Amino acid sequence: MFQPDTDSTNRTSALSATELFKIKDVRIGDYTMKAWFVAPYPEEYTQQPQLYICEFCFKYMASDYIAGRHKLKCAMKHPPGDEIYREGAISIFEVDGRKNKATDDVPYHNQMYCQNLCLIAKMFLDHKTLYYDVEPFLFYIMTEVDEDGCHFVGYFSKEKCSAMNYNVSCILTLPCYQRKGYGQYLIDFSYLLTKREGKTGTPERPLSDLGLLSYRSYWRSVLFRELRKVDEATSVEELSARTSLTPDDIIACLQLNDMLFKDKITGRYQIDIHDQTLEEHAKKMAQKNYIQIVPEKLTWTPFVLSKERLASITGEATHQVK
Ligand SMILES: [Zn+2]
Repeated sequence: MFQPDTDSTNRTSALSATELFKIKDVRIGDYTMKAWFVAPYPEEYTQQPQLYICEFCFKYMASDYIAGRHKLKCAMKHPPGDEIYREGAISIFEVDGRKNKATDDVPYHNQMYCQNLCLIAKMFLDHKTLYYDVEPFLFYIMTEVDEDGCHFVGYFSKEKCSAMNYNVSCILTLPCYQRKGYGQYLIDFSYLLTKREGKTGTPERPLSDLGLLSYRSYWRSVLFRELRKVDEATSVEELSARTSLTPDDIIACLQLNDMLFKDKITGRYQIDIHDQTLEEHAKKMAQKNYIQIVPEKLTWTPFVLSKERLASITGEATHQVK
């Protein structure tokens, strides 16, 4: 949460975070968007109605003039980290939130990049609280590529080591790119990584209202697609193995769509497939014509933490084995 200075000598101490935050609009690349929530930018950046952000390095600036000058000299044309997916105009990068040395090729610290990204996200996600402790996370940055570079569209973050099997921590599509199916695309990508890890996954809770709607829509699409392929004898476990969705999410989704019943005698769940519903949904999705992930285009191996790194992240002492 935003923490205003509580020092009683500070003239701003009596003001609420909302009063301190004067930013109404945020300009990223060629788009100007309304800021939905307060983000903890340094005070000198929150005193004018518009904030300017470089779409490549996420540097934030207070004026159009400074942003224009920065654009001329910014050396970054794509996110730092590794490009792990490219299909058509979509490119996705994996960025480790760990501190790194800037190089000629990537003249920027990952950590600062990820922290600045979290500040952007805070303006559009009400419950988000992560800003500075980015080291335990990997960030997956989705971009649209053209001759000017890789333009930031959205991202999700993911814990390097999640005890709860969370495969997404925060997820955001910039408002200017919403309604193009990119939110579903990002969610699908997060499950593609989980599938590649040989696991099942679920997003960290709580989800924002918009996030919950997106996930429900995604789960329905994926399960309906699978149910069209299988016969009625399929089980929740089989669906889970095919989709990498957790059994709990599958049960919740099927119940929400009236397709799951608990047998009163055996106590087992039974899937009740409504063919007409599946066909109508498939027709609706075809009309939307959203871009689809091409799994073969993913060039990625799952992140593996060494014991030492894991200990440094979790703050535990490293056990020396002799
Ligand atoms: Zn820049």
